[in-house]
Amino acid sequence: MATVLPETVPQPPADSKQGKALEPSFESWGRYPKLPADLRPLSWTTDFPPRERPAGAMLPVGAGRSYGDVCLLEEGTLLHARGMDHLLQFDPATGILRCEAGVTLAEILDFAVPLGFFLPVTPGTKYVTVGGAIANDIHGKNHHIAGTFGSHVLRFELVRSDGSHILCSHRENRDWFAMTIGGMGLTGLITWAEVRLRPIVTRGINYRGDKFVGFQEFLELSRQAADVEYTVAWIDCVSTGKNFARGIFMQGTHAETPAPLTRSKEPKLVFPIDLPEFALNKFSIGLFNFAYYNKQRAKTVNSVVDYEPFFYPLDAVLKWNRMYGKAGLLQFQCVLPWDEDQRGITQIMKAITSSGLASFLAVLKVFGDVPSPGFLSFPKPGLTLALDFPIRPEVSFDLLHRLAAITLDHGGRMYPAKDATMTAAQYQAFYPGWEKFAAYVDPAFDSAFWRRVTGRA
Ligand SMILES: Cc1cc2nc3c(=O)[nH]c(=O)nc-3n(C[C@H](O)[C@H](O)[C@H](O)COP(=O)(O)OP(=O)(O)OC[C@H]3O[C@@H](n4cnc5c(N)ncnc54)[C@H](O)[C@@H]3O)c2cc1C
Repeated sequence: MATVLPETVPQPPADSKQGKALEPSFESWGRYPKLPADLRPLSWTTDFPPRERPAGAMLPVGAGRSYGDVCLLEEGTLLHARGMDHLLQFDPATGILRCEAGVTLAEILDFAVPLGFFLPVTPGTKYVTVGGAIANDIHGKNHHIAGTFGSHVLRFELVRSDGSHILCSHRENRDWFAMTIGGMGLTGLITWAEVRLRPIVTRGINYRGDKFVGFQEFLELSRQAADVEYTVAWIDCVSTGKNFARGIFMQGTHAETPAPLTRSKEPKLVFPIDLPEFALNKFSIGLFNFAYYNKQRAKTVNSVVDYEPFFYPLDAVLKWNRMYGKAGLLQFQCVLPWDEDQRGITQIMKAITSSGLASFLAVLKVFGDVPSPGFLSFPKPGLTLALDFPIRPEVSFDLLHRLAAITLDHGGRMYPAKDATMTAAQYQAFYPGWEKFAAYVDPAFDSAFWRRVTGRA
């Protein structure tokens, strides 16, 4: 492998103390639930397993960009893998990058974009780690063409709490490969991974935005754009009547005219405070949805935009989850299989609009049929809807349970990375393979999510 990075796996200096503290506490992006746990920072792949095993269960965590409790563990030890952040090897001839699991997608972009490479799949934030991207088998705007992140992972190393090292790929230890991709951190610690990047010649994206009203129009636009690399829609989850299910369908492809491949600048804006609960209400959210829909005047616009606002509009303001106040937020993301009449998605949208709770960050997308490499991966062919809700205890949980029930009735499933509320019965119906998977869970590992969905919490 031709390499532009040092070839050896970095080793801790002889006098190194285990790990360096990165953050004083750990919470998920939704800031709910709030669970106490010890945080043990890992800086080197050799930091695990620890010399002295902690008393309770352990769970590897990355950047805490999951919304619910897949990255939380009450009264256990979180293995904070974010500090394992070395890039190890890169071959410009093939685009194959080997890096430690705590490297973020932002760090990969900083390194790779100036060399003419981009991520094969990226979620709506670049501040996730490679370990987290594999463990949730994340998807992006190109799911219908490229499948999940795991589809572009060639190999990784899994370290179990008994000290065994398992090299996983399509050829070696295939069962561990499939169980760990989408395995929510429960099969062991991923220490490093190899990912194939894709070439680009510019930061530019050829963008097209189309306004639509209703699911039929959305589906028609999705059909027309079936071969376009990136597609996604923002959908207004507040308006009813003639404006029900209106939105903006966004599509993009990497531009082909070469232009300077510079590194992105760090965002300067940080959401300064936890907003009080009353700030997000039916009126302010409705106003935002109205303004967002109408900020695009023409029915269709075409332009060339930078990849940052196209892929990561929310990353422009750090800590934006504070907008939901100290109580935090709940996400709901489901995928529903194809249904000519869109009855399931219509029922879900009606439940949301009538609750008056929906937020402005609602996304609708068509998932394609590229098979996911993970045994428990979330995506499957159909329509996926994702949105945030502020936590209002008297109504939010009830609404989420209703949405889960509709999802189940229509043969869909919900995304663990975004979830804090589904019941054990719902999870087990969404993911009937969970018992087979359970045999691969590291006996020393557990998570708040796993306790909940296996009926132990
Ligand atoms: C603004 C925003 C937009 C998002 N958009 C999308 C999107 O478009 N598509 C999508 O799929 N997701 C999306 N997400 C969710 C996010 O991509 C996933 O939750 C991702 O897994 C978070 O990675 P993380 O590094 O923060 O890991 P964490 O959230 O810290 O952990 C996630 C899981 O990975 C496990 N894990 C972490 N590191 C390791 C390791 N080294 N070894 C083994 N297991 C490990 C944890 O145990 C946990 O189960 C979004 C999140 C946000 C905040």
